[in-house]
Amino acid sequence: MLNEQPIHQLLGENHQMSGVELADGSIVELDAGLVSMGSKYHADYLNGIDLEYKGGNLVTDAMNRTSHPRIFAVGDLKVGLNQVVIAAADGANAATQIWRDIRRQEGTRRRAA
Ligand SMILES: Cc1cc2nc3c(=O)[nH]c(=O)nc-3n(C[C@H](O)[C@H](O)[C@H](O)COP(=O)(O)OP(=O)(O)OC[C@H]3O[C@@H](n4cnc5c(N)ncnc54)[C@H](O)[C@@H]3O)c2cc1C
Repeated sequence: MLNEQPIHQLLGENHQMSGVELADGSIVELDAGLVSMGSKYHADYLNGIDLEYKGGNLVTDAMNRTSHPRIFAVGDLKVGLNQVVIAAADGANAATQIWRDIRRQEGTRRRAA
């Protein structure tokens, strides 16, 4: 049974669930519940920039560059696994590539003093 009404309150006693009361006051009897948390991307500031998406996620290359050469995306916002370790690795990849881009732009030799 799919019921999409908001839950008003969880019901139960002594740490034992007995059901939920829905917004309209009706009660659904249950002995267990599973909390499902979604996530919302705060990426409205990207609206108007022509970037490649797959579903709601930004497509990047292996170093996290998006379809725009100067925009990188890391973590949940991009296509891939949503895990902390992935987000951290994405940051390292993106920072490394940005550093490489800057080095290439400036040249690898130190200027004479
Ligand atoms: C309930 C739950 C359980 C999870 N359990 C695990 C787990 O066990 N192991 C695991 O590896 N992963 C887990 N994850 C996934 C993991 O949390 C994410 O993959 C990871 O946090 C993604 O990192 P992120 O940097 O992309 O985004 P976030 O960690 O969401 O960081 C984004 C940050 O940017 C901030 N922000 C947003 N908009 C703006 C703005 N306009 N200006 C400034 N700051 C802004 C936000 O406040 C937030 O602090 C879980 C996620 C959820 C929701």
